[in-house]
Amino acid sequence: MASATRSSLPTGRMQRDGDGRTAIPYLFRMASPEIEALTQALARLPGLGPRSARRAVLHLLKKRETTLTPLLRALDAVSERLATCGVCGNVDTSDPCTVCTDPRRDARMLCVVEEVADLWALDRSRLFPGRFHVLGGRLSALEGVRPEDLAIDGLLRRLEGGGIDEVVLAMNATLEGQTTAHYLTERIERFPVRLTQLAHGLPVGGELDYLDEGTLAQALRARRPVG
Ligand SMILES: [Zn+2]
Repeated sequence: MASATRSSLPTGRMQRDGDGRTAIPYLFRMASPEIEALTQALARLPGLGPRSARRAVLHLLKKRETTLTPLLRALDAVSERLATCGVCGNVDTSDPCTVCTDPRRDARMLCVVEEVADLWALDRSRLFPGRFHVLGGRLSALEGVRPEDLAIDGLLRRLEGGGIDEVVLAMNATLEGQTTAHYLTERIERFPVRLTQLAHGLPVGGELDYLDEGTLAQALRARRPVG
């Protein structure tokens, strides 16, 4: 609709401007600055847009005792003690993290992942009994990410420490992920460990964090020796 044909009287309905974008007819404040700030903070979270954030805020305000208060306490506790694990690179409220200190985990198995999100995704599957190592990214010529930018030295130090029988390379099935796996294979070859990687049941271009647990579980089960 051309702007010249737009009625000069506010209709209260959403209108299209000349570019076809939705125009907001009124600029009344919907809530106090505090509530607006809370909504905007929530809207910045992944998976939440402004509408979901507003819905969440309304829920928090209406169910103060059961949602707002526990959320505040939990946020406060996490924010106080937030730490990056000096051993594996996981994010937790203790260093070493819960994964590294859990005696039920098999310390002889080590799964190498790109990001903390991948560690959490694999751990959700509950199919890997060992420990993890987070690289903090993947090699990328395009983005200028070099081996020294990743936690590779820390990984090699863990292997030098001994006691590890198997290293599972769980990189994303992307070009960068596979380049990283190839590079790691060359660096790890000199250690007396069984080197495996996730089977390519992973979709090409797929990222671990976005996969359903069934696909992830199958890829982990079908891991195979490298080379
Ligand atoms: Zn850890």
